[in-house]
Amino acid sequence: MGTLSIEDCMCPICMCIFVEPVTMPCTHTLCMPCFKKNVEEASLTCPMCRTRISVWARRASKNRKLINEKLWIDIQSLFPDKVKKRIDGDDEEGVEVFMHPIINIAQPGEIRKEYEEQLQRLAEQREKEQQKEFEASEALIRKLQEEEEIANRMRKKEQIAIEKLDKEFAKELVNLV
Ligand SMILES: [Zn+2]
Ligand SMILES: [Zn+2]
Repeated sequence: MGTLSIEDCMCPICMCIFVEPVTMPCTHTLCMPCFKKNVEEASLTCPMCRTRISVWARRASKNRKLINEKLWIDIQSLFPDKVKKRIDGDDEEGVEVFMHPIINIAQPGEIRKEYEEQLQRLAEQREKEQQKEFEASEALIRKLQEEEEIANRMRKKEQIAIEKLDKEFAKELVNLV
């Protein structure tokens, strides 16, 4: 704090003190009313350098992170009178009227559509995973059954072998007596 001069806190479009400053990925900052106006009138590009900001703006508006909160807090504590003047509409240079609340930049329904598509994708993915899990457990059960059958067969074989040995031994025994 204290490093910001009033010049640093002026919107390059309307030349008024920033209210709810929006700092774009290109690092240019506009006040919220000018940012909103720019989005409405022009496109999702920075009016200073023409950097495309659509991806960032969509995400930022969705996450309610459009406003550069740190800068906004600093401005309000450094220049409370100027901020109040602008918000009250007393700023003689100001042509902008303070606008609140935050805008929604995406086209109506756009975010909702994106969100629904994402939900759909997640649901499909989950279904596939469940199917895989199901198949995996089926395979495991089959494998266990096979192993048990093999064990049973081996036991039976062993039993037969023992019985055979017993019989032979019995024969031998009889012959000995
Ligand atoms: Zn402005
Ligand atoms: Zn820029």
